[in-house]
Amino acid sequence: MPKAIVVGSGIAGLAAALRLRKKAYEVTVFESNAYPGGKLHAFEKDDFRFDVGPSLFTMPQYVDELFELFDKDPRDYFKYKEKETICNYFWEDGTHFSVKKNSEQFIKDAAETFDVHKDEIKKYIANAKEKYELTAGIFLEKSLHKPETYFSLGTFKSMLQAYKLDLNTNLNQFNQSSFRDPKLVQLFNRYATYNGSSPYKTPGIMSMIPHLEMHYGTFYPEGGMHSITKSLYELAQEVGVEFRFNEQVTSIEHDGKKAIGINSSKGFQQADIVYSNMDVFPTYHKLLKDLKKPEKTLKQERSSSALIFYWGVNAKFPQLDLHNILFSNEYREEFKMIFEDKSLSDDPTVYINITSKEDPKDAPEGAENWFVMINAPGNYGQNWNKLVSSARENILKKINRVLDVKMQDLIISESIMDPVKIENDTSSYRGALYGAASNSKFAAFIRHPNFTNQLKNLYFCGGSVHPGGGIPLCLLSAKISTELTPDA
Ligand code: FAD
Repeated sequence: MPKAIVVGSGIAGLAAALRLRKKAYEVTVFESNAYPGGKLHAFEKDDFRFDVGPSLFTMPQYVDELFELFDKDPRDYFKYKEKETICNYFWEDGTHFSVKKNSEQFIKDAAETFDVHKDEIKKYIANAKEKYELTAGIFLEKSLHKPETYFSLGTFKSMLQAYKLDLNTNLNQFNQSSFRDPKLVQLFNRYATYNGSSPYKTPGIMSMIPHLEMHYGTFYPEGGMHSITKSLYELAQEVGVEFRFNEQVTSIEHDGKKAIGINSSKGFQQADIVYSNMDVFPTYHKLLKDLKKPEKTLKQERSSSALIFYWGVNAKFPQLDLHNILFSNEYREEFKMIFEDKSLSDDPTVYINITSKEDPKDAPEGAENWFVMINAPGNYGQNWNKLVSSARENILKKINRVLDVKMQDLIISESIMDPVKIENDTSSYRGALYGAASNSKFAAFIRHPNFTNQLKNLYFCGGSVHPGGGIPLCLLSAKISTELTPDA
């Protein structure tokens, strides 16, 4: 049976391993960590459970698809429920807005809270849908780097309507032209952070992102986000994928123009097909040192990273739900600090994720598990000890002002994750959460393809390659790359 090697067991590595197995390859996954899942991992401390990375789950059908490939019922492995409340937003002037899953309800609530007419929101939501439908089939579901993609009727039709995509304005400009209430502009600007970009730079096409939440919904997996990768790992083992943990791949070997295997800490391993789920930057710089580097792609601006405090909180907050945002008063300044100054704002937007709202077992009685995150620049060698300590103070002050509490007295357990640790734990260049940022209208075209013309039999999947970062897109990267791979 032909052999396939997958370097890395992030969500895209797991999905690629499963899809290759379905194509009848003998598949081995090499993982430098002791556990599968990469950024989708979890830990327990002081009787609190925390998901390490992602907290927002959309498009669960892409996970289900992997179970269905093997004629399994996904619900036997992995359960999730749709959220009624998508997110709670708080501003310092006391405004509180709760986004509900139903778009009719959203329109009604928004018209009551903000200076906006229902028709203006309806128009915005319809526009988001149209943008998504015009582009998803080309930009998300196919390789952008194969001529076939451009020779279909669907692509031709979309090209004719490219003027509708708002590629020449940035998201903030587009939102300002849609709404006069600065709070509503800020709410819709926030969607730029879903791929680690700045609303003041990313093109207006990103206004399609709310459509994914409002139309397809947001979900919470039973057992936490970690159960996504845990269940895929379980399935992979069941269908015969081999996993080698604590085994770092040090090079991808090739014979002229063809990948022939990898070297790991335990020596050479032959393969007919090699997949890299490692971030594309270190893949070239560490595993493919003798290959010509795709400089333009590797120099692309990276997405934002994150600073996270995992707090065990000795109190209950009925005004909060699973996803909560406390907005900065100085949103533009916050993004300038992140992307230009490579630093942190004194008034950050604070995201609080509390999974014990969904599953009380995640925290002791009377307590909550708070995942408190602010967007951060990548790791450029800043003094992180200093940045983390001042950010902690600023986050506490923000929470105290908005929720009217003395947060520092309620924290009974603490762990911290910064961009350096994200980089070290997952090999993501500069600790980027989503690979390259989408801070330019050309970003999608410069992102690395799921293959390389330099080496046959070498493929790429994961958040740093086409179509981009985030769980749904990582799963699509595995689908696109395996569709390009011949059957065994
Ligand atoms: P990764 O998760 O990056 O894993 C790569 C794996 O490869 C790692 O396990 C690593 O150890 C292994 N590896 C690397 N090099 C080697 C080597 N040489 N040899 C062997 N193994 C190697 N997405 C969402 O959809 N929703 C969210 O709410 C969300 N929030 C996020 C919050 C945070 C804090 C973070 C960090 C990310 C978030 N994301 C979110 C993004 C999402 O987590 C990622 O896009 C996705 O998980 C990346 O998966 P991946 O397959 O690219 O691999």
